[in-house]
Amino acid sequence: MKRIVSSVLLISLIVSCLCSCANQKERYTETYLEYFDTASTIVGFEFDAEVFDKNCDFIEAQLEEYNKLYDIYKSYQDVNNIRTINKNAGKEPVKVDKKIIDLLDYCIELYKTTKGKTNVALGSVLSIWHDYRNMYSEDAEGAKLPPMEDLKAAAQHTDINNIIIDRENSTVFLSDENMSLDVGAVAKGYATEQIAKALEEKGITNYTLNIGGNIRTIGPKGDGTPWITAVSMSDIAGNGENPVKVELAGQAFVTSGTYQRFYTVDGVDYHHIIDPETLMPKFDFISISVCCADSGLADALSTATFNMTLEEGKTFINSLEGVEAMWITADGEIHYSDKFSEIIYEK
Ligand code: ADP
Ligand code: MG
Repeated sequence: MKRIVSSVLLISLIVSCLCSCANQKERYTETYLEYFDTASTIVGFEFDAEVFDKNCDFIEAQLEEYNKLYDIYKSYQDVNNIRTINKNAGKEPVKVDKKIIDLLDYCIELYKTTKGKTNVALGSVLSIWHDYRNMYSEDAEGAKLPPMEDLKAAAQHTDINNIIIDRENSTVFLSDENMSLDVGAVAKGYATEQIAKALEEKGITNYTLNIGGNIRTIGPKGDGTPWITAVSMSDIAGNGENPVKVELAGQAFVTSGTYQRFYTVDGVDYHHIIDPETLMPKFDFISISVCCADSGLADALSTATFNMTLEEGKTFINSLEGVEAMWITADGEIHYSDKFSEIIYEK
């Protein structure tokens, strides 16, 4: 009798194990290198590889489209993009896709939220820094800083009110011929958010989009537990251990850092986030990570807080509902906003 009971138990254990295995979603990943000048990695949990592939095709098509529309450096056949708007500054309004109008509307709203610290109309100043970075990134010996008088002259042409949007005719006009748009601080995060929302509308869940460090999670992992993400550059001790990990289930997590785009002049690294007041990079931080529901907002805030002091940034982030941030200062200290501890993963 005892034997029969234990055999029955064993069989039911095997059956329930098989059932739960069949019910379990598998983890799949895909990476693209063609968009937004960075790597895009998609992780998703599905029962079926074909469903994952189909969803990736959808995501890739969207990435391709947003990348073309928001590009400031390249033109594409039959597409009016941000570069087309810049080329027509002071000349004529440019007919554009609604996705460009929506992005610029959002950027103008963010300019207000960030008190001007993230300004997409700063293109004339940013392009000077971009050119110097490109010119001297391989030439630490001869590297020079852009002359302050050039930066100041360019800064005369950064008024965000000169972006004239005509929603009815779907056109954008830059009314100052010397101004230009640079959407680098927001476009990646904004596009990521739009793609994530489109996936959510299709009922898709258990995915993470990581578009060059702009992380947007869609639901938790396949087993219902949160995604665990190591904060890039929190390994400041350089010992391969990442002391800060966060748990995400549906939110965005975006990091801006000084370590990817910079050039060196007289032994000093000049990075790519420029304070609109001083027209120079600030040297207070190595990285700032922002967590909130919306990846476009997180992207803009991680750039904006770079242009604030630690105290200003903390007060600013703590004043925003549902937004948390983590700062790594130049001397390696880690600071958190008031409720950041709620998303820290502790083993
Ligand atoms: P990344 O895109 O490298 O992850 P960010 O989101 O912080 O980093 O964006 C940095 C980019 O934003 C710069 O390369 C530049 O194009 C643009 N940028 C730099 N400073 C500002 C600023 N004060 N306001 C708006 N855009 C900026
Ligand atoms: Mg940003």
